[in-house]
Amino acid sequence: MSLFAWPEPATDFVSEVLAPASVVQGWYFVFKGNEILLRFDAHDQWQPMGHGEAAQFAAGQSAVHYMGRMAGVPCFTVETTGLAGEIFGGLRSLFGHTDKLMFSLAGRAAQIVDWYRSHQFCGRCGRAAVTHERDRAMVCEHCRIHSYPRLSPSIIVLVHRGDEVLLARNQRFPQGMYSTLAGFVEPGESIEETLVREVKEEVGVNVTNLAYHGSQPWPFPNSLMLGFHAEYESGDIVLQEEEIADAQWFNCRQLPSIPGKVAISRWLIDAYLSRLGIPAAE
Ligand SMILES: [Zn+2]
Repeated sequence: MSLFAWPEPATDFVSEVLAPASVVQGWYFVFKGNEILLRFDAHDQWQPMGHGEAAQFAAGQSAVHYMGRMAGVPCFTVETTGLAGEIFGGLRSLFGHTDKLMFSLAGRAAQIVDWYRSHQFCGRCGRAAVTHERDRAMVCEHCRIHSYPRLSPSIIVLVHRGDEVLLARNQRFPQGMYSTLAGFVEPGESIEETLVREVKEEVGVNVTNLAYHGSQPWPFPNSLMLGFHAEYESGDIVLQEEEIADAQWFNCRQLPSIPGKVAISRWLIDAYLSRLGIPAAE
């Protein structure tokens, strides 16, 4: 029996806003719109752009933001309209082609690029906004409004009942795939209230004994997923049909197709299997 190990917090990255005065090496996460530059090495692993090549991103032609240091190496985001002929794609293109730390940095970069692009003007008065001198914020000097990168907290939960788990699929999932339930926190709610409400809304059942397991930034486009196990209490499955195509109780020894090991939904499932002493699928 292999015990599931929740991913360790990344310790190799230090977040910073102010770039060092001189940069002699660096990693550049290059975007065109919402898509990231896709380049893969001889082992089919994705690579950010290196420092030498990044000199082409002259000020004024591309938006460049400093993110911090990974293992001491400065990291930058770039939004460019150039690089004709290169291939760009969604962040999901990196799944299976990079490790957890590099994927989390690509997701962080995507959110910084999206924040900067989306806050060029004040949301209240419409005047042009400027970059804050120290913080990751866009500022309207007229209204004194600071706009920080937006994060949308959401819950993701594995509902369990003995050796069964409740998994659901929505219309957007690949054929046959089931996953844990998830939903966004509403203003005024605690995380626990969100969880109970979302489970009730999506599949009609009541849950109890909520247990927090861990979190994952999910940059599609700006979620922060807070992962729980919750014990079934009562009620029959009733689908919220606008969102959920199907939901079923599955025996843990006969699970359907489930998400890959890059996603917190999978970590929640594997952690429960581990608790039951059932080996997780590869
Ligand atoms: Zn304003």
